[in-house]
Amino acid sequence: MTCKKCGLCCKLLQIPFNPKQKQQIKLAEMKVNYLKTIKHMGFVYVIFLSECKYLENNLCTINKTKPLICSTQGGNSGVYSNLWKKINPECGYFQNQ
Ligand code: SF4
Ligand code: SF4
Repeated sequence: MTCKKCGLCCKLLQIPFNPKQKQQIKLAEMKVNYLKTIKHMGFVYVIFLSECKYLENNLCTINKTKPLICSTQGGNSGVYSNLWKKINPECGYFQNQ
């Protein structure tokens, strides 16, 4: 249960939709860099590849001043970890659980 430094939590963007927004979801899935769609807690999350410009060699170059939202991403966070487990089950924080 440790970070594998794959950098994926800084490379993926997840946009939540209401499941009733079927047309918008279809449009989002047609965009470049679309990766996959995941259902979670009553929402449909459309996942895109979108690497943060502050990521270098899979490490954050502004770690001390990074936005608060960055601390709530990835498997180490209680806030989004259940969602993140569906997006990236290979995250090191979910291994050997
Ligand atoms: S928290 Fe998980 S997804 Fe993010 S870099 Fe570490 S192992 Fe990869
Ligand atoms: S600011 Fe740092 S922690 Fe936040 S997404 Fe970018 S590289 Fe990742």
